[in-house]
Amino acid sequence: MKLVYFPNPILLKKAVPITVFDDALRARVAEMEPLLELEKGIGLAAPQVGWGVRLLLARPDGDPSKSVALVNPEIVRKKGSEWGEEGCLSFPGIWGNVLRSTWIKVKAQDTFGQPMEFEAEDLFARVLQHEIDHLDGVIYVTKMTPADQAVNRRKLEDLKAKFAQVQPTSG
Ligand SMILES: [Zn+2]
Repeated sequence: MKLVYFPNPILLKKAVPITVFDDALRARVAEMEPLLELEKGIGLAAPQVGWGVRLLLARPDGDPSKSVALVNPEIVRKKGSEWGEEGCLSFPGIWGNVLRSTWIKVKAQDTFGQPMEFEAEDLFARVLQHEIDHLDGVIYVTKMTPADQAVNRRKLEDLKAKFAQVQPTSG
């Protein structure tokens, strides 16, 4: 399992719900966890490792010792809004301000299919909104302020060029 980088097309696709909660699912989630650790991330969505399912890992309060796996997460309520700076493991070096709700209520399942519901605020709410966007094929760079988009334009072009280089050529 490896991280995928922009502009890998899987990052722009809507992920499919998980319907089977078996050992194979939990084994793949266990494979994702070290990636979050290694990359010092606070959130990681399955499409970012090339897996097109509705699953994410996140660290409440950025605590490196624990991560939660959310399956089929949904935001059912939200309040407030605030701009804040975001980065993404799939967009190395690209940072910008995105408007997010400051409080959300989330419904999800665990990796055994058990339903859960909880509230999140501030940074954890931001992380979850960013990761749930990934499950809908929505990338944060499209939500940045025009000024931040302009600042990052060159770096995005560089990522595209790098991606084109690593694709196998035909013929
Ligand atoms: Zn991201």
